[in-house]
Amino acid sequence: MDNPNELRFVCTRCGNCCTDRNTLVNVTSLDILRIIKGLKLDLTEALEIFGFYVFDKTLTTSDFKKMVIPPAKTERGLAFLGLMKNSQGKCCFYDLTKKKCLIYELRPIFCKSFPFTFYPSLDKEISSKESAAICYTEKAKEYCPGIDGDSPLVDFNYLVDLAQKTLKELRDNHSFIEHWNKEVSNNQISPSAKNFLKNIFNISED
Ligand code: SF4
Ligand code: SF4
Repeated sequence: MDNPNELRFVCTRCGNCCTDRNTLVNVTSLDILRIIKGLKLDLTEALEIFGFYVFDKTLTTSDFKKMVIPPAKTERGLAFLGLMKNSQGKCCFYDLTKKKCLIYELRPIFCKSFPFTFYPSLDKEISSKESAAICYTEKAKEYCPGIDGDSPLVDFNYLVDLAQKTLKELRDNHSFIEHWNKEVSNNQISPSAKNFLKNIFNISED
């Protein structure tokens, strides 16, 4: 585990995290809601932006345990929700010419928290600095030049605040997906992508 008092970061705007073919930009239900509202998307437009990435293997209990975002039941199988990518594998919101995110203020929670990840379990609050397990993500270690030794130290209180916000959003998302999956299992709801997004259109943000 990285020492949380010695985490360094400054974004060099290299774009690696937005253009990596092998990185799936996960979204929570609240990310979807914020983007839909912020960009004033209708259902048809939302279906072009949010992808339902269906797992091509049967998931084991250990796979489920590792997931911070649970998969949603769909008519094609269990799926991860993420932003669509273009044909080169880049995030659909990355402007390659200007080297910037086109929805910066609305970007998903995982984009906001990158290059950091937080390890307290989802059912626990971070009650103290000591209980915050904050470290770099594996992807950041792989390709983020912003975390090298010359970058400035990141304020630890800022990280704790970010961790709390992220974990709260992940908990809310967990409840949303759990409810969706239960309704699908009980045949109370049609498991289509369209219907999933329709349900999100009906959430009101606190
Ligand atoms: S990989 Fe790191 S330095 Fe590059 S754009 Fe992403 S956060 Fe910034
Ligand atoms: S939403 Fe923005 S910050 Fe996130 S991966 Fe796409 S371009 Fe990058």
